[in-house]
Amino acid sequence: MNERPFNDCSYDQFLNEGKIMGSKCKKCGALALPPRPICVSCFGSHMEWVQFKGDGKLAAFTSIVVAPPPMAKEGFGRNNPYIVGVVELTEGPKVVARIIGVDAKRPEQIKVGTPLKAEFLQKGEGDNKQTSLAFKP
Ligand SMILES: [Zn+2]
Repeated sequence: MNERPFNDCSYDQFLNEGKIMGSKCKKCGALALPPRPICVSCFGSHMEWVQFKGDGKLAAFTSIVVAPPPMAKEGFGRNNPYIVGVVELTEGPKVVARIIGVDAKRPEQIKVGTPLKAEFLQKGEGDNKQTSLAFKP
């Protein structure tokens, strides 16, 4: 497992396998998700893979009403907004992801601090399979 490079491509591969994998600096122990080849804390370059449990809490969020083309294709937009949030994982790092299972039309009811669990969103099949990370209460 250690031979995979610490980049977004490996991260996506692991998501396809149902794993949330980040990098851990062997020198100072700092964690990064998505994985980074260089430590954001000490600039060290010796990393190892760590699996994240997928538990966290909502640190910030926004309701998206002007959807980028791939989301617009799925029917999101002005009349059907969706939520993107910053999730603070139990292990420490913060990750930006879609928040599902909440009412995006009533964002005032969504509370910062809400405990969340990771959910894998699948698109496509076979070699075109794409998994993205989302979180839900
Ligand atoms: Zn470090």
